[in-house]
Amino acid sequence: MNWASKLAKPYRVSDGDKFRLKDFDPQDTGEFKSKEEAKGLLEKSVAHIEELQDKLYAQDRWCLLLIFQAMDAAGKDGAIKHVMSGINPQGCQVYSFKAPSNEELDHDYLWRTTRNLPERGRIGIFNRSYYEEVLVVRVHPDVLEHEKIPAKLRSKDTWKERFQDICSFERYLSRNGTVIRKFFLNVSKKEQKRRFLARLQEPEKNWKFSPEDVREREHWDDYMQAYEDMIRNTATKHAPWYVVPADNKWFTRLVVAAAIVETLEGLKLSYPEVDPQKRKELQAARKALASN
Ligand code: ATP
Ligand code: MG
Repeated sequence: MNWASKLAKPYRVSDGDKFRLKDFDPQDTGEFKSKEEAKGLLEKSVAHIEELQDKLYAQDRWCLLLIFQAMDAAGKDGAIKHVMSGINPQGCQVYSFKAPSNEELDHDYLWRTTRNLPERGRIGIFNRSYYEEVLVVRVHPDVLEHEKIPAKLRSKDTWKERFQDICSFERYLSRNGTVIRKFFLNVSKKEQKRRFLARLQEPEKNWKFSPEDVREREHWDDYMQAYEDMIRNTATKHAPWYVVPADNKWFTRLVVAAAIVETLEGLKLSYPEVDPQKRKELQAARKALASN
């Protein structure tokens, strides 16, 4: 096993049956003791992701969909920014899902997802996703009311049905060449409080603060239950969850980077082979260039 797989493995959940959130410590930093110790490896993996992404793009067969879910202030934005910092912007698409618009509410909940899926050869990043449909919507039943689903179709089985539909959707995508990896940035309630306070105290962080985020904290336990149930029901071999410790941002970024390296390496990517016809064309072009 190479370093990336070794680093990412403890956090990968490919079969949800036995998953329990309490088995995952938000403060975990694996074998690393400090940010400085991890710095070199993070830089190496960011560079490696860039190389692999170049091949992904050249080959134009697979695409990678990375889904990020977390409580507020868990560090989604920072993880995306750092891990993707080496990538050619043309090969990467980031989409942030907010509360659905009126137009989006006139459709089924996967409609807006389908429209924003990555193209072949690209890395698509979902900053939040259709998983909100079994998180915020589950914690706040009035959000479901807004979705205009016929009353007859709603029941206590709604969440189970959503899990099934999401799994089928991900199976379908993966059968068509979309490689899906999902990240739950697992921050503790205590660390979230510390980060909110920093947002209030430091002027350059004030803009990040939203009073609504603090209100959501009151539902912390409901959210944790929803996350646990979500992972139990949607972690699969072809679309695993990574439960990433998120109390130390440097470690979060390292695990996310390792998981991406592990995934892209698993695809055994290579630059397209040049066939004899094309080789002839290249030779002719070289000659032509040499003579004028
Ligand atoms: P973030 O909170 O992700 O850092 P942000 O603060 O810029 O981003 P917000 O305006 O808070 O953006 O938008 C995200 C909000 O949208 C979250 O509170 C999330 O729960 C909500 N949301 C996303 N998808 C849905 C959905 N399908 N149904 C209801 N609410 C959703
Ligand atoms: Mg927000």
